[in-house]
Amino acid sequence: MLLVFSTAAGAQSTTGNSSAVLPVEGSPGEVLMISLTENPGNIANIILEEKNGSQITGGKVFKLNGTETILLALPSTLSAGNYELRAHDNEENPVQQIEFTVLPKRFRQERISLNRGLTILRTTDEERKREEALEIQAIYALFNPASVYGDLSFISPIRFDTLDYFRVSSEYGDRRLFQYSNETSSRSIHTGIDMATREGVEVYAAAPGRVVLAKDRIISGMSVVLEHLPGVYSIYFHLKSIEVETGELVEQAQVIGTVGMSGLATGPHLHWEIRVNGVAVDPKPLTQVVIPDTIHATSIGE
Ligand SMILES: [Zn+2]
Repeated sequence: MLLVFSTAAGAQSTTGNSSAVLPVEGSPGEVLMISLTENPGNIANIILEEKNGSQITGGKVFKLNGTETILLALPSTLSAGNYELRAHDNEENPVQQIEFTVLPKRFRQERISLNRGLTILRTTDEERKREEALEIQAIYALFNPASVYGDLSFISPIRFDTLDYFRVSSEYGDRRLFQYSNETSSRSIHTGIDMATREGVEVYAAAPGRVVLAKDRIISGMSVVLEHLPGVYSIYFHLKSIEVETGELVEQAQVIGTVGMSGLATGPHLHWEIRVNGVAVDPKPLTQVVIPDTIHATSIGE
């Protein structure tokens, strides 16, 4: 479920009548949609901070169906506890502040053994990986208030109902231990969900949007990134083929490519990810067509 907070819903603030209703709690991986149907304090952005003042995540205002809206994405790495939510106007003056509670959430542990070829892929060519990481991080950080192509409702990028073989092989937020063929290991956190299926199965745009990246990358292989809303992107990795070009507008359910195992993948699967203001969030609560639960994890990538 997507949590929506609206100024019409009542008062929960600490600063009196002329303030907006802000969310007071959330879980790691969640997106909070704050609809400022009334915005007496002229809120322009909201920042989530540690008690010591260090910033964790934030969101800026944009117009969605005529309503001033801010999206706040909570990273999967957020520890349970108390935080501060601060709202500012467009001159960065603080206009509202409330205490915010992050609820506890457990993620799965996952162990992945990589053969010699995948070990070499994951542990070499650091310069190209760094360049590609900088390029994609810059895309995720782009916030264009005019980029409104739909709302925050997605469909599954794979039609699981008619396929003879489909399963979620890896969940959002899985804590991963990569074991290399040379006896060393490293840890990472899975930022999307992996949907294992046959090679060549069509991959659909999960929502209307604009293609902002369509290219071959070293780890993620043939990759597509779509922009849907200001700061909201969906990501499709390890494709066999790409059917769209950068700059193109796509409709929801338009074919954007096919499932493959390009880049770092131990079997054919789609890595599907959603970023909001740079933060990878759990795609499942944002997906209208239900994605089945995990059965077993054997086909893994990044
Ligand atoms: Zn993945």
